[in-house]
Amino acid sequence: MNKEFFSENCKLSSFTTIKVGGVAEYFAEPRNLEEFSYLIKWANLNEQRCQIIGAGSNLLINNIFIKGLVICTKKMKSLKINPYSGIVEAEAGVMLPTLSNSLAKNGLQGGEWAVGIPGTLGGAIYMNAGTGNLSLANNLISVKVINNKTNEKLEIEKKDINFEYRFSSFQKNGLTIIGARLHFEPNGNLKQLIQTTKNNLKLKTETQPYHQPSFGSVFKNPENSYAAKLIDEMGLKGFKIGDAEISSIHSNFIVNTCSASSKDIYELITLIQQKVLQNKGIYLQPEVRMIGFDYPN
Ligand SMILES: Cc1cc2nc3c(=O)[nH]c(=O)nc-3n(C[C@H](O)[C@H](O)[C@H](O)COP(=O)(O)OP(=O)(O)OC[C@H]3O[C@@H](n4cnc5c(N)ncnc54)[C@H](O)[C@@H]3O)c2cc1C
Repeated sequence: MNKEFFSENCKLSSFTTIKVGGVAEYFAEPRNLEEFSYLIKWANLNEQRCQIIGAGSNLLINNIFIKGLVICTKKMKSLKINPYSGIVEAEAGVMLPTLSNSLAKNGLQGGEWAVGIPGTLGGAIYMNAGTGNLSLANNLISVKVINNKTNEKLEIEKKDINFEYRFSSFQKNGLTIIGARLHFEPNGNLKQLIQTTKNNLKLKTETQPYHQPSFGSVFKNPENSYAAKLIDEMGLKGFKIGDAEISSIHSNFIVNTCSASSKDIYELITLIQQKVLQNKGIYLQPEVRMIGFDYPN
């Protein structure tokens, strides 16, 4: 493959928000769909496994050699906003804070909640990221995808996608999200939208260890309960394995206090699960996705 498109033996810790990760045999950051397609073709021709990451804000990557190609979508960030119709066309790598701020500045209502989520649009659709009842699924018209096996491009309408709490069909169908069309309410009050967006970010930074390396909430909230509350009740707030610590600001966050290894973090996840299961009879399901572990994602 043309060397300008990819690097070899790339450390993935710089591409995850928790600053932990192994080494990818091949790593690429395509800037547009053409480059992306080229990489997929190359991986298929050379029988290389291809894994997609966005901003790495919900990812635990094992500290091992990851064979094959890892593609990061962060440089695919074209964003077109029509302030009159409220239609937005965005590539998968657009960051949610960028999207949220741009919507507010264009008087479009409905994306103010997303400002504090440090992930890409593609990652957010894949994860059905959100807060409370709000998620991008509410504003989706369609998702543009590519089939990594055949390189075929498709546009899937929202009605044909299943979204549940932190789940989308993309977690099962193996399609890669390359972009999306969304609709937001036009003609909103500009000043108010900008202020609400600012307030939402402030709230996040006040209630979460926002400026420490983490991957957001570690576990999904079980039905009728909160993972953070259960972890608190186990007296685990502030508990550490190596440099991986259960945050004292928000117990459903694990923070990397200095140079945590993927093993430290994985062991902490397992310890929390064991304690909560033994004492409360509840199995906490990780929200965070894992690469390079024998863990059923
Ligand atoms: C400080 C902090 C706060 C957070 N707050 C929230 C919150 O309020 N609500 C919430 O829901 N989440 C939150 N998160 C978690 C995270 O930001 C979201 O899950 C986000 O949507 C992940 O996007 P990403 O681009 O980082 O995906 P990544 O972490 O890079 O990847 C996550 C998964 O998506 C897959 N993926 C990524 N891009 C694509 C693509 N284009 N096509 C197919 N698959 C893809 C990856 O293979 C992986 O399995 C937070 C994280 C942090 C660090």
